[in-house]
Amino acid sequence: MYPSAIQNYEAPDSVDGAMAAIAKFGDDAHFIAGGQSLMQAIKSRIIQPETLVDLQNVDELRSLEMAQGVTIGAMVRYRDIAANAGLDGRLGALRDAASHVGDRQVRSRGTIGGSLCWNFVSACMPTVTLALDPRLTLGSEARGRREVGIRDFLGEPMETDRQEDELLISIFFPEAAGRHGSAYGKWSLLTDGLPVIGVCAAVSLDDDNKCTSARVSVGGLETGPVRFKRAEEELLGAGFDDLKSHEGAISAAAEEAEIFDDITGDAEFRRQLIRSVGLKSIVKAFERAAAAGADQ
Ligand SMILES: Cc1cc2nc3c(=O)[nH]c(=O)nc-3n(C[C@H](O)[C@H](O)[C@H](O)COP(=O)(O)OP(=O)(O)OC[C@H]3O[C@@H](n4cnc5c(N)ncnc54)[C@H](O)[C@@H]3O)c2cc1C
Repeated sequence: MYPSAIQNYEAPDSVDGAMAAIAKFGDDAHFIAGGQSLMQAIKSRIIQPETLVDLQNVDELRSLEMAQGVTIGAMVRYRDIAANAGLDGRLGALRDAASHVGDRQVRSRGTIGGSLCWNFVSACMPTVTLALDPRLTLGSEARGRREVGIRDFLGEPMETDRQEDELLISIFFPEAAGRHGSAYGKWSLLTDGLPVIGVCAAVSLDDDNKCTSARVSVGGLETGPVRFKRAEEELLGAGFDDLKSHEGAISAAAEEAEIFDDITGDAEFRRQLIRSVGLKSIVKAFERAAAAGADQ
């Protein structure tokens, strides 16, 4: 289907210009980043914007800085994240996810900011960031900039805390002393497709390789991604090679999850996927944390 007519197209080259453009055109204006989700909605006329504000020329949104933490601009593409070895270890889950989103075209156009703002029910980046716990910077012409934690940003599927005139500017992962590792894995009907189930684990280890903190999030659920506190608690104190504890923790998550049947898999199948995909993510996160230098 062809999109309905788009009246205005703006391509600002600065953050202030992008915020000004969206303010000028009001409710019927939409930002477009990589277009990998928005264009499908426009072509099927689910969304009929009068104005598109294209973010492609805003260089400030494309930067990925590693100083006192990691700051990723909203327009950083999956491809750039997948290629960045500096993210290994503590933020390894970002690379795991970005390397297996869709196909080469999707990874070359799609952005981390677009994925978080779209917040599709089973999408990878919302699940991963929920476990990695970054802070997001948003801005609007009317109210200036503000920061919000990822848990407060992500709402129900396809909803976020972003107001219509707000631009997502960047995603900030604070520096953390100690040894940390994270990993993300998914199972999809198609290779590198949207997950039926995706699991992210992020752990910290002490000098004896015992877990001092853990975050486990599961995506592919009707509710959108969810953190599993019981699994996180069960991992505390677990050793890096303590497979029994890792299995116990992810089984706790699988039992705790509110799971639905749909054409991609019934509830029991999904529960089993949480166990198998989740165990791999937990083991990988522990391995990465154990391999990390104490200064990471
Ligand atoms: C074939 C295919 C396979 C896919 N497979 C996967 C998969 O395996 N895993 C997965 O997670 N996803 C998958 N996706 C979805 C895709 O990853 C994302 O939805 C997409 O990358 C969104 O990013 P984008 O930059 O393209 O955003 P766009 O489509 O341009 O925008 C999405 C929404 O976010 C808003 N927006 C974008 N940037 C900003 C900003 N900076 N500030 C404010 N609002 C903004 C837009 O207005 C729009 O509402 C797939 C998509 C396709 C087409």
